[in-house]
Amino acid sequence: MGKVIGIDLGTTNSVVAYIDRGEPKIIINEEGGRVTPSVVGFSKSGERFVGDIAKRQMLINPDATIHSIKRFMGKRYKDAGNDLPLVNYKVSAGRNGDCQFDVNGRILSPQEASAMILQKLKKSAEDFLGETVSEAIITVPAHFNDPQRQATKDAGTIAGLNVLRIINEPTAAAMAYLHDRRKSATIAVYDFGGGTFDISIVHIDRELGEVRATRGNNALGGGDVDRVIMEWLIEQFRKEHGVDVANDKVVRQRLRDAAERAKIELSSALETEIQLPFLMADATGPRHLQCTLSRATFEAIAGPLLDATMEECRRALHDARMTVEQIDEVVLVGGSSRIPRVKELVREFFGRQLNQQFNPDEVVAIGAAVQAGVLEGEVKSVTLLDVTSLSLGIEIEGKRMAKLIPKNSCIPAQKLQLVSTVVDNQKTVKIHVLQGESGKADENTSLGEFELQGIEPAPRGVPRIEVKFVIDANGIVNVSARDSRSGVAQQLTIQAPTGMSRLEMERARDEAASYEKTAEHAGELKEVRFQIERQLTQIETLLRDQRDQLQRNDVQEADHALKRGRMALQKAQDRTNLEEVHGWLRRMLLALNEKVAGNGVH
Ligand code: AMP
Repeated sequence: MGKVIGIDLGTTNSVVAYIDRGEPKIIINEEGGRVTPSVVGFSKSGERFVGDIAKRQMLINPDATIHSIKRFMGKRYKDAGNDLPLVNYKVSAGRNGDCQFDVNGRILSPQEASAMILQKLKKSAEDFLGETVSEAIITVPAHFNDPQRQATKDAGTIAGLNVLRIINEPTAAAMAYLHDRRKSATIAVYDFGGGTFDISIVHIDRELGEVRATRGNNALGGGDVDRVIMEWLIEQFRKEHGVDVANDKVVRQRLRDAAERAKIELSSALETEIQLPFLMADATGPRHLQCTLSRATFEAIAGPLLDATMEECRRALHDARMTVEQIDEVVLVGGSSRIPRVKELVREFFGRQLNQQFNPDEVVAIGAAVQAGVLEGEVKSVTLLDVTSLSLGIEIEGKRMAKLIPKNSCIPAQKLQLVSTVVDNQKTVKIHVLQGESGKADENTSLGEFELQGIEPAPRGVPRIEVKFVIDANGIVNVSARDSRSGVAQQLTIQAPTGMSRLEMERARDEAASYEKTAEHAGELKEVRFQIERQLTQIETLLRDQRDQLQRNDVQEADHALKRGRMALQKAQDRTNLEEVHGWLRRMLLALNEKVAGNGVH
């Protein structure tokens, strides 16, 4: 088995780690960075960029730069209202109402876009480790529901990765802690990232960790903090110039960028200057934005968002039936936990110093790598029992939800439910599976309607069909059914499923694999072209500096070589032809150098 990598597939940035002789290590990407921006960009000609380069083009090409993909994973368009204002590219409703992206007319599912990031991470890992990588553990926010987890797994599959396990981000952080400390403690993992917030209470008993409760908000992260600053900037501009720039896409992107920079600066400075020259122009000429944002004003603007995270902490403690006094340590995770006011609020709430020994950007990937090490057998005696953060249930009379597996149950979990018919000779029974906490069915996420078919004709109430609901170790829901008298498995079909169909998945996977091949081919082509360019420069230098050492026919031959090489570069996209020229030039250069050296000696 090759190396299994641990991937923190973040809203803003992603990080990959692996286990090296029992110790977790971060993988450095091709650009030399430890984190890779979770951004995919396309040029006008359709060329794809991922990571830093894509992030750099965000400002000039906002329509064709996809970021914050995680917010749309496994999400219905009708539920994406809070996420749409955060992005400047086109998001619409696809088949079955799932979100999809439209980049210059090219339709992409969030799974496919995420797969492009995963493909880049996979390649970074392969280059770094010098071996093929085909297996991974991917982390997701604890409160990700079934379609979101499934979508993440599908993204991995499209990228050519066998996703061995989906684990919760806070669980991964606890795993890193457990691997490092190996002592009993109850820890609170406060994870405030770019797009999501999670709080988990984990009890660690030497080698065994148990998540006692987990809470979170899928639509609350650093991006939202940037948005409130951006709105404040729009207001400042309106006050000063009397112009509303809220609907200008490019201006919004510049403002969002400036907002994020200001926010990060305010983590170390008490005030920051925001200057955006030529923000817009009208008949009266260009208009500039210039203002000062103090940390105090920032804290007032972002206050409600930060307070909302504390409310979740309170709820998590309540769910775990614990008090703050029972928490031994608080581990901070995610870039937004660097905001000084956040640290202050968390410290005040838990009444203790914070554990700052882990890098908040890396601790989740480190934990995922530890889990990978456990599966590989490289890391021994670290076990973490995870819980499901959402209740699973079915719709019952009166459009209500009956809970079958309550939230915070240890996973894997399963529940058997006996189902029967309500009229004589009824052949089918529909079961509507839901995930969420509301008593009202329509306020929860619908995982689909499962139809039991082929029930033997019998008086009502006689058939006894056992329906098994399983939440696997990935937090993914499986439903199966069998006739409890005959033991025969019942046919079960899902109606209106979310996510990608098998066919769509296959097509996406083939496309991704063929892109990889094309990219590899293009990379090789670039390399040969570079080699030829280098040889031509060497010949030019030789002709310039050593001309007197060469015979007339050597000079002619060198001139001919230059012509042939340049022509090959201009025309050929065919690697065989380029390689042939490359080989020929190498022999020619060798011969010329020998002659020059020989003449120098005599
Ligand atoms: P993550 O998803 O963990 O990569 O977190 C990314 C988020 O952290 C983004 O919203 C960043 O703007 C934010 N962030 C990164 N560094 C800082 C900092 N020093 N102060 C405040 N926010 C930060």
